[in-house]
Amino acid sequence: MQIMLFGSPGVGKGTQAKILSTKLDIPHISTGDILRQAVTDKTPLGLSAEEKMNKGELVSDNIMFGLIAETLAQDRCKKGFVLDGFPRTIAQAVELDKIFNQLNIKDVRLVVITANEEEIVRRLTNRRACDNCGNIFNYNDIRNSNICPSCGAIDSFYQRDDDKEDVIRNRLNIYKNTTEPVLIYYRSRRNEIYINGLDSVDEVTNNILSELQKAGSSKIIV
Ligand code: AMP
Repeated sequence: MQIMLFGSPGVGKGTQAKILSTKLDIPHISTGDILRQAVTDKTPLGLSAEEKMNKGELVSDNIMFGLIAETLAQDRCKKGFVLDGFPRTIAQAVELDKIFNQLNIKDVRLVVITANEEEIVRRLTNRRACDNCGNIFNYNDIRNSNICPSCGAIDSFYQRDDDKEDVIRNRLNIYKNTTEPVLIYYRSRRNEIYINGLDSVDEVTNNILSELQKAGSSKIIV
């Protein structure tokens, strides 16, 4: 099964993508994670993307086209994938359609997770990442301890530059102006599934899975 997860920054796409990837046994393809790894590894891709990412701006479409084409062509994506963070512009959506055609991918589910802006700002400013394992936590859950619950690293929590409030507002504006219009591009051709992202993590997962099941094998045309 191929799933595209859509929604503004902080709506819970990454969390849901990881859970769906495990439950459905398909890889989680996060363009944000791929770029962050490239920044850490100081590859040419990382060096060209880093400044934009730190400001919460979009990395150029040309860089993203190569990255996504290469990733989706990998063997591990043959049985399906959960795509998280791509497309973010109409040009990327057009390019993705071409890639899907080349790879003969025809049956893609579009899942849109929604939440209001103030809740998103509250959630994102409360996020802390572990610089050892990369997992994300809510500040309220870890503020009384300096040990990462996932990997046991000590004093490893930090706030990502792109989770600071001014950067978050910038990311939300970019989402509204540049990324949300992608939904209009898809509206005529895909049966998108809308899910309320303010429910609990488990409820959101269950709602996605049951809506996907209801959609059954009905073809969503690329
Ligand atoms: P994310 O973790 O998905 O929020 O992505 C983190 C950052 O990576 C974004 O703020 C962008 O700077 C960059 N990025 C990720 N995916 C894309 C994309 N599809 N197009 C452009 N930039 C992207």
